[in-house]
Amino acid sequence: MNSIQKIQLTTAKLLINGEFIESETQEWQDIVNPATQEVIGTVPFATREEVNAAIAAAQNAFASWKQTPIQARMRIMLKLQDLIRTHAKSIAQVLTAEQGKTLADAEGDIQRGLEVVEHACSIGTLQMGEYLEGVARGVDTYTLQQPLGVCAGITPFNFPAMIPLWMFPMAIVCGNTFVLKPSEQDPLSTMMLVELAIEAGVPAGVLNVVHGGKEVVDMLCTHSDIKAISFVGSTAVGTHVYNLAGQHGKRVQSMMGAKNHVVVMPDANKEQTLNALVGAAFGAAGQRCMALSVAVMVGESQHWISELVNKAKTLSVNAGHEPNTDIGPVISPRAKARVIDLINSGVEQGAELLLDGRDIQVQGYEQGNFVGATIFNHVTTDMRIYQEEVFGPVLAIICVDTLEEAITLVNANPFGNGVGLFTQNGATARTFQQLINIGQVGINIPIPVPVPFFSFTGSRGSKLGDLGPYGKQAVQFYTQTKTITSRWFEDDQETGAVNTTISLR
Ligand code: NAD
Repeated sequence: MNSIQKIQLTTAKLLINGEFIESETQEWQDIVNPATQEVIGTVPFATREEVNAAIAAAQNAFASWKQTPIQARMRIMLKLQDLIRTHAKSIAQVLTAEQGKTLADAEGDIQRGLEVVEHACSIGTLQMGEYLEGVARGVDTYTLQQPLGVCAGITPFNFPAMIPLWMFPMAIVCGNTFVLKPSEQDPLSTMMLVELAIEAGVPAGVLNVVHGGKEVVDMLCTHSDIKAISFVGSTAVGTHVYNLAGQHGKRVQSMMGAKNHVVVMPDANKEQTLNALVGAAFGAAGQRCMALSVAVMVGESQHWISELVNKAKTLSVNAGHEPNTDIGPVISPRAKARVIDLINSGVEQGAELLLDGRDIQVQGYEQGNFVGATIFNHVTTDMRIYQEEVFGPVLAIICVDTLEEAITLVNANPFGNGVGLFTQNGATARTFQQLINIGQVGINIPIPVPVPFFSFTGSRGSKLGDLGPYGKQAVQFYTQTKTITSRWFEDDQETGAVNTTISLR
């Protein structure tokens, strides 16, 4: 316990028009260290006036920001990536204290977001339009990718660095202004990144932050000055945000819950596969939208299950800042109770509990929200542990005889975030990638999150809206394509009569 990182009690500020201000609200929530229950800060639920002021600041700033040369916007991103790199370790300590994940994983959370900022530095080529000369006699057509106006972002607790960085850097580098609503459970590390953005030179009003819950989110979804909403979080809230903001005429991207499968073929490399399964199922205490929830063991690979369990038993459950921790706490006592309830349901519904993480005790952190690695075999598709997103360190195993059965099983699941296949056979991999109906596929990769040169392409029940976060899709999301068809007359000599028909080219 003596190695615990002491984080100074902090009040999360609002950022409105370039000023970090203390909210005047009467409604505050504690920010709690999930390993200790120590209160490390407080977060305000912003008043309606404060939310309106943030949106007004963003609306005012848009007029000049959209005219700011693209190189100037890009240079702010170059500075921001440098500042994030410099401060990554201190941000990671706060992130671990408020979110619970291990320090190494917190640094990974920041690094993945940093890569999006690095990619934003290429906006000069990413935001280029198209040009076609001579679409008719003397006529050319070209496109502009113009910013939309004020955009808003609503983020979840599980990646308080990466997911805000999926959003505001791409939005503002495209020339939009932004209102961010971080998770109220762990907003402190997000705010450190926002402070760095201001230090990097983001002008007043271009980036604003309001804190809060449903009321603030609903204001963002309905305000007439907001043109687009980026949401990442649970399926229930994401569906609400998509519908509400859509009804109010906004462009929406909503990335939601998941149930990710990995299919294991008997010809896979056994050690590599089992190590990958354990890391993907239990890393970040299973609180990743791309965490592995279901291992589908095909044919003879089911004989590896006892070795899988043995590997999971070696994982160290401890506070995230302690050295060599593999599994930190889940975010809150409520989240822990939910995970335990789902494990209980698995037992009651007849799955075989091979490894039980319910009663884990962590010395020195007896109050922490810990759940140990948990593995069920003989899971069936009607069980709650198969149907619901657990968002805890719980792996369900289903055994099937063939690849075709595995593909049918995965495709029948309503979620579509990520899927993996472990095999040494190229033909098997090719069949799988063609037939599997999931937006992100890993071949011998358990968590196939694309790098920011591509986009995050979750699908089906895990996503609403066409365009995903970061990469080229984010540039499309945060811009409106304007197509210009132009003709310049060399002289004013009449070349024909008035023509009232649609012209043939
Ligand atoms: P959450 O839906 O509870 O919260 C997300 C955001 O919505 C927060 O900012 C929260 O304040 C706000 N919110 C909460 N309740 C609301 C309500 N009733 N109305 C309006 N807004 C509300 O999600 P969470 O628990 O913070 O995050 C975990 C979830 O996020 C998991 O389901 C996970 O799979 C998902 N997630 C998805 C992706 C993805 O890319 N698909 C990535 C990360 C997390």
